[in-house]
This record gives sequence, C-alpha cells and structure tokens, in this order.
Amino acid sequence: MSQNLRILFLGPAGSGKGTQSAKLAEKFNIEHISTGDLIRAAIKSGSELGNKVKAIVEAGQLVSDDIVNAIVKEKVSNLNSFILDGYPRTLEQAKFFDGFAKFDFVFDLEVDKNVLVERLSGRRMCTKTKDTNCKGVFHVTMTPPKQESTCDLCGSDLYQRKDDSPEAIEKRLSGYQEETGAPLGEFYKSQIIKINGLDHPDQVFGNILTKLESVKV
Ligand SMILES: [Zn+2]
Repeated sequence: MSQNLRILFLGPAGSGKGTQSAKLAEKFNIEHISTGDLIRAAIKSGSELGNKVKAIVEAGQLVSDDIVNAIVKEKVSNLNSFILDGYPRTLEQAKFFDGFAKFDFVFDLEVDKNVLVERLSGRRMCTKTKDTNCKGVFHVTMTPPKQESTCDLCGSDLYQRKDDSPEAIEKRLSGYQEETGAPLGEFYKSQIIKINGLDHPDQVFGNILTKLESVKV
C-alpha cells in the first residue's frame, strides 16, 4: 500500500484497540503511537519539552493537554503514515490535531457494555504479581486457572483488582463515552468506520483490513 495511512483507533479500554493497532502497525510497517509511549520517550530524550514533562511526572501530576498536544504534533509532523491509539482523547485535542494533520481512516471499535463488563470483570490476577513478578493472569470463563482461585504458575491465591469490579468498569466506560466516545464520534462523523470490537481478534483484524481495501479503491 503506497498511499498515506494515518489511522485513528477509537474505543474504550477493553475494546482491543491496542492489540489491533499493534497488528496493523506490524502488517503495514508503520508506527503505532500511543501517548504513554510518547511521554516516556520524550522524558528519555532529554529535550527541553522532555525535561518539562519529566518534572511534571516526577511531581506526580498529570501531563496537561497542551503538552500532550505538543508531543504528538512533534512526533506526527514527520510521518506520512501512523496509527494513533489513545489520542485524541478529548474534543479539544481532536480540534488541535485537525489544525495540522488529518486522518485517512478513523476506526471505532464498538463494544456492547454488558459483554465488556462481563469480560473485564472476570479477570483474576496472581496475588504475587508484585512480590515475585509472577505473570499469572486468568479469566474465570475464557482462560480459567486449573484450580479455582489458584495461580497455575506459582500456586498463590488469585484476586480481582479493584479496577476490574463491574462498578469500576461501568464507571470507566461512561467516563470514556462522555469525554471521548460521544464528542469524537460526532467530530469524525463523516469518516468514522464502525467495527465490532467484541468479535474474535482475528476476525476484527480481518474486518479492519477489508475496510482499508474497500475505501482505498
Ligand atoms: Zn502466580
């Protein structure tokens, strides 16, 4: 594919946009840009902006919209193709971005709220994740441990993170919808491509590729 591929993925946490972004980036050999990675890279670079960000993060404060905007702009300005995952997150960021670059494709990974809550709230982590760096992560229905509530890897107890409780997930989802989903859905209305994010990841990826092909021709 020789044309520019400037792609935005929208979708709440748990919709699989990180996974799909990574797969697409690999297939077309283009950069997958997440704001978390950009912020870490900026800090590491030692640039003037990077040092400013470092001071903010070290003080335990949130990096402001203005700074995130500046970091993304600096990064994206030199690229003809990229995938943005997690930015723009607000209408203000979307408007700022629109002032210097356009997306060729905007994918919205849609998820049914109830299904997502069920999926995410089934996650169980090993209680020794911090102590011994155990990587035990299970799901009560999709990838259950061999023995209930017990880590397959180290035999320790499993627990549910507070973030994974149904209440916390619903709160996160409605926060996403309010801050990002609704306003950005409206902002990119003319070009948004809706994809069912709850299909099997391979199926989701296939659907995305089909859309890329059909729009390209
Ligand atoms: Zn474990």
